[in-house]
Amino acid sequence: MGMKRQPSGEDKLIERFFKPLASHPGALSLSDDAACLTPPAGHDLVLTADMIVADVHFFADDPADTIGKKALRVNLSDLAAKGAEPIGALLAISFPGAVEEKWIEAFSRGLGEDCAAFNCPLLGGDTTKTPGPLSISITAMGKVPSGKMVKRAGAKPGDLVVVSGTIGDGALGLRVVKGDTALAQLTYEQLDYLKTRYRVPEPRMALATLLRDHANAAMDISDGLVGDLAKLAHVSGASARIETSKLPLSNAAYDALEYAAGYLRDILTGGDDYEVLAAIPAERYPAFAEAAGKAGVPVAAIGSFGPGEGVTVLGPDNEELAFGQGSYSHF
Ligand code: ADP
Ligand code: MG
Repeated sequence: MGMKRQPSGEDKLIERFFKPLASHPGALSLSDDAACLTPPAGHDLVLTADMIVADVHFFADDPADTIGKKALRVNLSDLAAKGAEPIGALLAISFPGAVEEKWIEAFSRGLGEDCAAFNCPLLGGDTTKTPGPLSISITAMGKVPSGKMVKRAGAKPGDLVVVSGTIGDGALGLRVVKGDTALAQLTYEQLDYLKTRYRVPEPRMALATLLRDHANAAMDISDGLVGDLAKLAHVSGASARIETSKLPLSNAAYDALEYAAGYLRDILTGGDDYEVLAAIPAERYPAFAEAAGKAGVPVAAIGSFGPGEGVTVLGPDNEELAFGQGSYSHF
């Protein structure tokens, strides 16, 4: 007598919520132990993993679709900064208790929308229980023409310090989500904008090819501008100097500074921006900025790299600002 295989709860969950996201033929519809794909000819693979943990990178009661989006986007942001285009992603998720169907439906819907929008299908993953908080780890794979990955090490004295988008919205958005009353004077639209910037960052995929063509070095800003700039300058063997008067700010961040000038520190050192930070030779900057603008991503030059080491930040009155710790550190 044949024994009929009963799908487990985990199997059903994968089949129902994750299989529809596994559009890449190499994912084998998530019916095998592993995905299998042929590396694209003439390209290098670019691999990156970023984990997000409840109450560290998001809040367990954030809308589940935004958690799915953020989990993927923080990885896509790394690929963009390396000049890479997405191929696909692996998802490892640990649930603290029983899996609520409504939650996972919204999570996989948000994730799926972004897998489609960013052309980054799900290739596989793992699903477990944990005694700890909800954690979601995505490993993304991308491609660059061989030898063309944009590194962190490579900034040269004279290069401009360039950032994409606006800086500080993620850190201010975190304050809004936490219910910071000092920001209550912002309009509803501004508060909503900041919250969305924290929950659903915008990976700058359109910059990937432009960075390959123009940048000496790049990274994404995940732990705060000043600290991340210090990392890039350090591995490049260069110093950097930026001016806060040149920082690109959203109107919400600009108004926030009117109400609470002390938030300049948050804007400079808070995490969650997921903008691109790049070292661009001065003579290449006009072409880079024009192409970026055409691609819909504003960029700004906020300073320059120099010889020696260390990061100097000039404040609103051209005074040097001091930072104990320039970036968010988990340890
Ligand atoms: P194994 O026992 O080998 O770990 P699983 O039953 O965990 O296999 O996974 C079966 C298939 O489902 C595999 O293709 C795996 O990649 C995929 N998978 C499991 N969990 C996830 C997930 N959270 N997201 C995407 N794919 C998943
Ligand atoms: Mg497994």
